[in-house]
Amino acid sequence: MFRSFPVSLVSLVTLALWPNFASAQGQPFAVGTASAAPGQKATGYLEVPAGVDGGTNIPVAVVNGAKPGPVLALVTGAHGTEYASIIAVERLILELDPTKISGTIILIPLVNIASFEQKIPHINPVDNKSMNRFYPGKADGTQTDRASFLITKQVVDRSDYLIDYHGGDLDESLRPYAYWGPTGKESQDRISKEMVLAFGLDHIIIWRDRPTDIAASRYLDNTASLRGKPAIVVEAGHAGTVETDDVALLVNGTLSTMRALKMLPGEPHYIENPVWLEKIVDVISDGSGIWYSLVKRGTYVQEGMKLGYVTDYFGKVIVEPRAPAAGVVLHVNAVPSLKKGDNIANLGVVASKAPR
Ligand SMILES: [Zn+2]
Repeated sequence: MFRSFPVSLVSLVTLALWPNFASAQGQPFAVGTASAAPGQKATGYLEVPAGVDGGTNIPVAVVNGAKPGPVLALVTGAHGTEYASIIAVERLILELDPTKISGTIILIPLVNIASFEQKIPHINPVDNKSMNRFYPGKADGTQTDRASFLITKQVVDRSDYLIDYHGGDLDESLRPYAYWGPTGKESQDRISKEMVLAFGLDHIIIWRDRPTDIAASRYLDNTASLRGKPAIVVEAGHAGTVETDDVALLVNGTLSTMRALKMLPGEPHYIENPVWLEKIVDVISDGSGIWYSLVKRGTYVQEGMKLGYVTDYFGKVIVEPRAPAAGVVLHVNAVPSLKKGDNIANLGVVASKAPR
């Protein structure tokens, strides 16, 4: 829907002649100020100009493979204190070897620098917006809108595939999981499903209920999906920690996905029997006070089971939140602080059958 019909025809012809639809192979590939010749790696910045508020420079790396192939975007740090996902992409910047890659990798290791620097979870403190809710962005909004606009133009529009990385934020104890958002377009959904299975996280949310308006796509992966580019979301890490296992899941999952996309030599490792989740249920606090959890990330709960309790500041129990449905605790509030309306936990409801 984003490409005009004649361009689609050209793409088909290119596909027929050349199995990988390549973008500008044999030439330098530039994103922002990072420009890499084939077989090289370069770093630079996406320069978000000042507007109604301050500008920012978002770091970007381009790893331009020696051989032709597709363009894959790896984006993380929209929530700047989801550290494991940020460190994983930093590692990939260092470790990816352009002489071994077919195609081009665009890596954005930290979208939300102010959040990272100031240790503020969930939002960009410059404009108090989540940096994964305002896509495709706009040129004349606040900093989050302008950054999202630039990422849509410079990263999404120039990629063939996209992976968006998240994890448990400072106050979230999260077990790893991925999102797969089917679009109804068979060939695109087949590729995105192959990507999510190759990534290998063992719990996968089937995310069907998403915005369909290309001008109000909200989420980064959905912005790519609506533009015809297979995209997935992956999450690992929790509550301010950078654990080796979490980082390894994200790094190894990325390499396996690159193998599935034929961008790296070798066989991908597909997860054989993931737990498919068909719905996420939010548990919201209806009181303010001190949170005591009775469950951990990854715990399976029955409907009605007590998840924990909230006391006032004198220790008197005021609320005992219960599971609204049976499912797995995808994340649970990791800290004692809790106010009315906060998210206590997200439960994933197991799908009755795997998607076909
Ligand atoms: Zn996030």
